[in-house]
Amino acid sequence: MNRILLFLENSENRRLLEEFLSFRYEVRVGNSLLQTKQAVPMLDEPFDLCILDGVALNHLWEWARAKKEMEQPVFLPFLLVTPQSQVKLLTRQLWQSVDDLISKPIEKLELQARVEMLLRSRQLSLQLKASNQQLQDEIAQRDRAEAEREMAIAALQDNELRFRRLTESNVIGMIVADLKGNIVDANQAFLNMVGYTSEELQMGTIQWQAMTPPEYQALDLQGIEKLRSTGLLTPFEKEYIHKDGNRVPVEVGGALLDAVEQTAVCFVLDISDRKRAEAETQRALAREREINELKSRFVYMVSHEFRNPLNIISGFVRLLERQGNRLEPERQADFYQRIKSAIDRMTTLLDDVLLIGETETNRLSFQPAPLEVISFCQSLVEDLKIANDEVEIGFIYTVESLNANLDSALLRNILGNLLSNAIKYSSAGSPVQLYLSCEADVLTFKVQDTGIGIPPEAQTRLFDAFYRANNVDSRAGTGLGLAIVKQSVDLHGGTISIESEVNVGTTFIVTLPLSKHLHQN
Ligand code: ADP
Repeated sequence: MNRILLFLENSENRRLLEEFLSFRYEVRVGNSLLQTKQAVPMLDEPFDLCILDGVALNHLWEWARAKKEMEQPVFLPFLLVTPQSQVKLLTRQLWQSVDDLISKPIEKLELQARVEMLLRSRQLSLQLKASNQQLQDEIAQRDRAEAEREMAIAALQDNELRFRRLTESNVIGMIVADLKGNIVDANQAFLNMVGYTSEELQMGTIQWQAMTPPEYQALDLQGIEKLRSTGLLTPFEKEYIHKDGNRVPVEVGGALLDAVEQTAVCFVLDISDRKRAEAETQRALAREREINELKSRFVYMVSHEFRNPLNIISGFVRLLERQGNRLEPERQADFYQRIKSAIDRMTTLLDDVLLIGETETNRLSFQPAPLEVISFCQSLVEDLKIANDEVEIGFIYTVESLNANLDSALLRNILGNLLSNAIKYSSAGSPVQLYLSCEADVLTFKVQDTGIGIPPEAQTRLFDAFYRANNVDSRAGTGLGLAIVKQSVDLHGGTISIESEVNVGTTFIVTLPLSKHLHQN
């Protein structure tokens, strides 16, 4: 409800006006005649219209002007009640403080109309101020939103620039991919890594899923799950299949770009060098282990295989020293023979060690020369028969004569070692066979026995120097023969394989290509 302040000198007028206005408005009555002191509390109250007479205006014109100014731009109306005769007496100053006047005697209808009009004007100005304020608030809010948007755009552009720089720098591979397996975008570094062109990328031919080998699919699925749940793809190692079919080891990591579209941005690092270095380190470690094992096998062999003949030699030398003169000549000759064969055994051992040393340092030479293979084998078998008279050694061949360009010393290493092993690892008297055949320019030797056989776990290691299977019992040996055989076969460009079963027997199969070494048929 609008509030009206009333300052009138005439008490009758005051009462009548109060009574009349109180029907519609809240009316507060002041008495200007009692000086401003009494009116003071009322003067500080808010109001919508002040009706006052000339006397009150004289007292209050300064207050009225200050009040009006304070309310600016809202209109605060002052209505002056004055007799017609006094209108001309109003000073300019007083006129600046009032907005309208009504002359006495007061007409009720006129008063009502003026009061309504002034209050309407105030109401309108209040509304205007409110909408003005709202407008200003809205403008301020829009300005703030605009500033925020500009900042966000600037940040986005900044990010985009950085991302683009990173992508275009081609230091690392970058891709934008969907979670279904498609690559939406990729930089040149990535395309180089997997061997595709940007045209193929545009055509949508490149699929990260299709490029992933089957054994890495499960790892990829785990990565996608993580991306979905955390938005991040922790870097992990995998492989891509290059367009040329080769594998490229890579490290991949990234983040979800758009949760709705389900796209992610990922970096892809080519880790071929790292993997190569790792493999190299592994190889070096394995080699070191092998060398250590070789050393200990060597020490073991030397302590066993050299001690026996040395014991024999020193024992018989001592006997000859003490009782040499008293011994019969046959006994003496027997002792010397034993010493000689112990020395021969040690010489053979040393020869083998030297030979394996040569193969290890790649100094074993390959000097092929024309060789009649059948007679070469026959004489070798004959020699062995003389040395092992209780063993039956058969030689079966499918060609009449065979001239080939072979290294006879290496071939002696091969067949000599295989046949002596066949004899050594068989029980006394069991037969040993050497087969020779020639087909499609390949010479095939088979050395077969029915001896102790080779346990499966030992078969892969037989060609390592000093290695011996655990079923050899007390049979003398150095573990060098097969290593020498393998090197000799390799130098001929041939192959060697084993068929063996424990307590059934063993067959070594050696093939030597003839094309390189064939001299004449
Ligand atoms: P060694 O001096 O011990 O005979 P090799 O290098 O000739 O050395 O052979 C290595 C190992 O291979 C032997 O110690 C033995 O365990 C196994 N081996 C070789 N040939 C035969 C065979 N014919 N039958 C059973 N085991 C064999």
